[in-house]
Amino acid sequence: MTIRVLAVITLPLLMLVSVSSASDQRPNIVFIFCDDLTCQSVSAYGESRHLLETPHIDRLAEQGMLFNRCLVTNSICGPSRATILTGKYSHKNGFYNNSNSRFDSSQPAFPKMLQASGYQTAMIGKWHLGSDPVGFDYWHILPGQGVYYNPPMIRMGERVAMEGYTTDLIGDLSIEWLKNRDRTKPFMLMSQHKAPHREWAPALRHLGWDNDRVYPEPATLFDDYKGRSTAVSDHDMGLDRTFTDRDAKLNTPRNLTPEQLVEWNRYYGPRNEEYHKANLTGRDLVRWRYNRYMHDYLACVKAVDENVGRLIQALEEEGLSDNTVVIFTSDQGFFLGEHGWFDKRWIFEESLRSPLMVRWPGTVEAGQECDRIVSLVDFAETFLEIAGLPIPDDMQGRSLVPLLQGKTPEDWRKSLYYHYYEFPVPHRVRPHKGVITDRYKLVHYYKPDVDDWELLDREADPLEVTNFYEHPGYSDIVAELHQELKRLQTEVDELDEPPRRAYGNRPFAGEQLPPQQKKNRQKKKQ
Ligand code: CA
Repeated sequence: MTIRVLAVITLPLLMLVSVSSASDQRPNIVFIFCDDLTCQSVSAYGESRHLLETPHIDRLAEQGMLFNRCLVTNSICGPSRATILTGKYSHKNGFYNNSNSRFDSSQPAFPKMLQASGYQTAMIGKWHLGSDPVGFDYWHILPGQGVYYNPPMIRMGERVAMEGYTTDLIGDLSIEWLKNRDRTKPFMLMSQHKAPHREWAPALRHLGWDNDRVYPEPATLFDDYKGRSTAVSDHDMGLDRTFTDRDAKLNTPRNLTPEQLVEWNRYYGPRNEEYHKANLTGRDLVRWRYNRYMHDYLACVKAVDENVGRLIQALEEEGLSDNTVVIFTSDQGFFLGEHGWFDKRWIFEESLRSPLMVRWPGTVEAGQECDRIVSLVDFAETFLEIAGLPIPDDMQGRSLVPLLQGKTPEDWRKSLYYHYYEFPVPHRVRPHKGVITDRYKLVHYYKPDVDDWELLDREADPLEVTNFYEHPGYSDIVAELHQELKRLQTEVDELDEPPRRAYGNRPFAGEQLPPQQKKNRQKKKQ
């Protein structure tokens, strides 16, 4: 309590005097961000199929607060990143999809605000927003998606060659920046991993880490999608149909050094040979792919966990633990075989939910859990409040600071609006929007060849394999959620049909692209 009161009194004063003076005691912020990291692979969530131990990540939860329902607003990489920076939904920040969106960096975003108020700001790792980072004193990023081994990177606009495993390099660069920072200022460091994004390439030291374990299967690995919208069954993200030879490591990665390649082949070589001999089909093939996928994906998470440990240790060595807020999270969740899928995009729980834990000594009591619906759209507001800065009125989320302090505001949200756009490539997931509550989800698959409503009831059906929309006994809740959806659309101001570009560059079946998009597509091809 004392610390909080002190902060309230001192922060406005500090800003009046000189925000960049050595007396600026505002908390530092370390934002550790993953790409496609899902709760099922983090042992702090205790609900995984005993897939992996993540001791370093778990320690952040033990020493801070674990959020059980941190939800995304549009389950895909670039849009989530844009939402975090701006505190706004895709239709407000203009970044709808990964196909043709580019972040308009002239718009307000929290790093700029922190920087202007005297924070030293750094962005290291995966950025993936098309335009260069703005609002950072230092940036060192992967171009685009980046690669897992020996990645080219861009340091303050200049291309640099790097040797090593990307997750380790991002850890190294983050620690190096921390040690060389300007010690007279508070800082905000964004340390953003590529891992465990597709194609889930492990560090060479982790090849075979699981001793060829056979992994427990999710109950819905062979989901038949019975009684569901064709939007759900007609996908292109199944382990049975979409998993490529590159995903399966049946092809050799391109940018390994000769020595690295020897090590890579030592693990995958004999196992791939065995696979080819076996001529697997049907469920056996899916099972083989699932186990290969788990070995690789979880190995990527293992490297992230180790690097979280290294970064936390560096904070300790620098004497920064007490006055630094550490946030650990991901841009969305991911399917680990549930519904037969990999990837994300859907409103279903596995891809909707991001892991989130926050360690903030003196403010967050150790070992807390929060079940409230929070979202990536709340992060910018949270960082601004931590830095004692005003939150712009047009931001659409809400600061998590009261929750972190153990006080839940009475009017905290009971529902969240969701909207996914990108179609048809990749993965043919139909655009859908919906409303999410603690128990229910009302979903509308609305384009281009479907017009289907689904009601999910997580209490009655935690696996989310039943559509209750037409079931007797659900009509009241359906009516209520229709109203709630309308209310949320009004609140976030998305009552109109999204612009065509929201769905990406590719035409739907039988559709002529508008001339501008055709031009963009041709340009991209050249
Ligand atoms: Ca992602």
